[in-house]
Amino acid sequence: MNILVINCGSSSLKFQLINSDTEQCIAKGLCERIGIEGSMLTYTPEGGEKEKTVTPMPDHTEAIRLVLEALTNPKTGVVKDLNEIDAVGHRIVHGGEKFADSVILTDEVMAAIEECNELAPLHNPANIIGVNACKVLMPNTPMVGVFDTAFHQTMPEEAYMYGLPYEYYQKYKIRRYGFHGTSHSYVSKKAAEVLGKKYEDLKIIVCHLGNGASVSAVKNGKCIDTSMGLTPLEGLIMGTRSGDIDPAIIEFIAHKENKSIDEVMTILNKKSGVLGLSDNLSSDFRDLEDGLHQGNENAIRTMKTFCYRVAKYIGSYVAAMNGVDVICFTAGVGENGPIVRNMVCEYLGYLGIELDQELNNKRGLDIAITTPDSKTTVMVIPTNEELAIARETLRFVI
Ligand code: AMP
Repeated sequence: MNILVINCGSSSLKFQLINSDTEQCIAKGLCERIGIEGSMLTYTPEGGEKEKTVTPMPDHTEAIRLVLEALTNPKTGVVKDLNEIDAVGHRIVHGGEKFADSVILTDEVMAAIEECNELAPLHNPANIIGVNACKVLMPNTPMVGVFDTAFHQTMPEEAYMYGLPYEYYQKYKIRRYGFHGTSHSYVSKKAAEVLGKKYEDLKIIVCHLGNGASVSAVKNGKCIDTSMGLTPLEGLIMGTRSGDIDPAIIEFIAHKENKSIDEVMTILNKKSGVLGLSDNLSSDFRDLEDGLHQGNENAIRTMKTFCYRVAKYIGSYVAAMNGVDVICFTAGVGENGPIVRNMVCEYLGYLGIELDQELNNKRGLDIAITTPDSKTTVMVIPTNEELAIARETLRFVI
């Protein structure tokens, strides 16, 4: 079967067509600047050349029409017609408390997802637009929604409640939800598979360190805690997001800088994180690593603070699970950053971790990077959210 995976943002749309028998991606691409001048489609068929086409995309329906046209193009396409696309899997960011699993996107389900928009105003409306656009162009193809929050719905109450008046939970569902769930689920399962151990027997900590970053604790096959909260702003220091701060800082900055709450929230989301902490050196860890080698103080402070926070979260999840068997690193920095992995693991001597530096320098493999004597296993598992979405989608259509 061929499954089209769609990850739709407000002005961009990423897609992959995955053959579910081989689990290979047979074409992928990106629509950028949807609804803005200079819209562009990038399309790469498996084994073929990357093509870039600048073409108007006034809305998401047009963007998806162009994607389907590219996939069925007689010369560079990978399928003959739309009948060869058996199902579409959509990434949906927030499923609230309603969705603890993926779901077929019926009209009733779409209405329930819309009710979660308030919890993710930047993401969910765009995800819904993507689903609706696909439904117009492929009315008979099954559509499945896969939620970033679903994997974390197994968290116990003590992990998801905030110390706030309970009525806010009752009235507005203010609680911790967690994100990157598709990645945490994929990586933790893959780690068990690579180790040849039963998923349900393991205590796993997954560090998803990308531009957005989060840690999760997966005990006996279920997520019991994760670092992101009501929104993806809580937890680790990220590319441009602050992660955990004293909430009183918001009022403090608003007064000192004469800014509104909205303006301060933009600072916390877009101008903070490693970008802000490095005094605007960069939000990209490749630049920070270069800075570290050159002895740049902004880079040193930022790398140390980032890694310390990751190590602190790992420690708290060791406590929450009463131990840990496997720690996994994934996403852009987690997969490609041996320095970050080293700096984090330096805090974890109490877990008897011994990194194998040769293995720690390898890239792109699902491997353990600890020595056989290490008391806790540390692994690098490249994440593959698109494949995870395709697998979920397949569950509903076979
Ligand atoms: P993601 O959000 O998972 O795509 O991760 C993106 C981030 O990964 C970038 O902003 C970089 O900071 C980081 N990254 C990508 N490649 C490397 C690399 N070779 N070394 C260190 N960091 C990297």
